[in-house]
Amino acid sequence: MLIVDAHLDLSMNAMEWNRDLRQSVFHIREREQGMTDKPDRGKGTVAFPEMRKGNIGLCVATLIARYVKPGYPLPGWHSQEQAWAQTQGQLAWYRAMEAEGELTQITDVASLERHLHAWENRGEEKHPIGYILSLEGADSMVNMGYLERAYEQGLRAIGPAHYGPGVYAYGTDASGGIGEKGKELLKNMERLNIILDATHLCDESFWEAMDHFHGQVWASHSNCRSLVNHNRQFADEQLKELIQRGAVIGGVLDAWMMIPQWVRGKSTPESEGLSLRHVIDHYDHICQMAGNSLHVAIGTDMDGAFGKEQTPADMETIADLQNLPSLLSERGYTTEDIENIMFRNWIRFLKNAWT
Ligand SMILES: [Zn+2]
Repeated sequence: MLIVDAHLDLSMNAMEWNRDLRQSVFHIREREQGMTDKPDRGKGTVAFPEMRKGNIGLCVATLIARYVKPGYPLPGWHSQEQAWAQTQGQLAWYRAMEAEGELTQITDVASLERHLHAWENRGEEKHPIGYILSLEGADSMVNMGYLERAYEQGLRAIGPAHYGPGVYAYGTDASGGIGEKGKELLKNMERLNIILDATHLCDESFWEAMDHFHGQVWASHSNCRSLVNHNRQFADEQLKELIQRGAVIGGVLDAWMMIPQWVRGKSTPESEGLSLRHVIDHYDHICQMAGNSLHVAIGTDMDGAFGKEQTPADMETIADLQNLPSLLSERGYTTEDIENIMFRNWIRFLKNAWT
């Protein structure tokens, strides 16, 4: 079955983790043996060969760079211009992968339909994976002229904030509203028909964004607060608002967001019995709330600065997303529901957003 994954940080892995994603996950892990600069060294689960093996023919792939004011505790660039340049470097890698036939950029209904048709009818030869360009945290938008340029480069979705305070909104573990800058960003996103990614917005910024933005909204990688209580997750009233607006919410596969009481660096997927079944609990919560299976889908974040140490124990690589259909079926989901979750919801959302 085709899979659409709405959240991967592919270029961050290429440019900051120094991973050549054309190589298999196993080759990359071997190359990282002995490296200790990042917690997920030697434990990656995402690379192009495994995406192809798992029939992940389409993904939303990010640009990501934070700006930090003096005294901010999080790592980041000291100017928005530096953050912009970082994202342009990341984009240069996506372009190089397009030139290599590894990726193809999807920007409208025509390119989406062309790609899906070609993917379905591909032969044994390597076929480019479709990607939709997204921005996680909008700090790199120096001003709205940069937003125009980014749109021309194919940018189609923006999450205004990531972790901490951002230029345009407050994100995870922070609190505050979107302010005048955030409102200006949302107004221009609406004008350009850029999708608002509600993931990572803190509660206050979330509700302000919902009030001021009248365009398309999705949540690329978010789980439910009622199952794991953290501000990074959506409370039921936020889920209700998203459902009402026709949003699709991508269930995320980062351990601490799937089950409560996960202790980073101490808990292991094996010690906690963490499995893909746990993400289905989050899907199910949203499906029960919506009364249908039209608002949940996949947004794994499996290369978001973690690897096997924080991934369900029944997954070796991203290719094992193919275990989801049978697990959903065991839970009583029909074939139609399962197809909605695996790929149809994202595709329907995009076609509707771009028509
Ligand atoms: Zn994220």
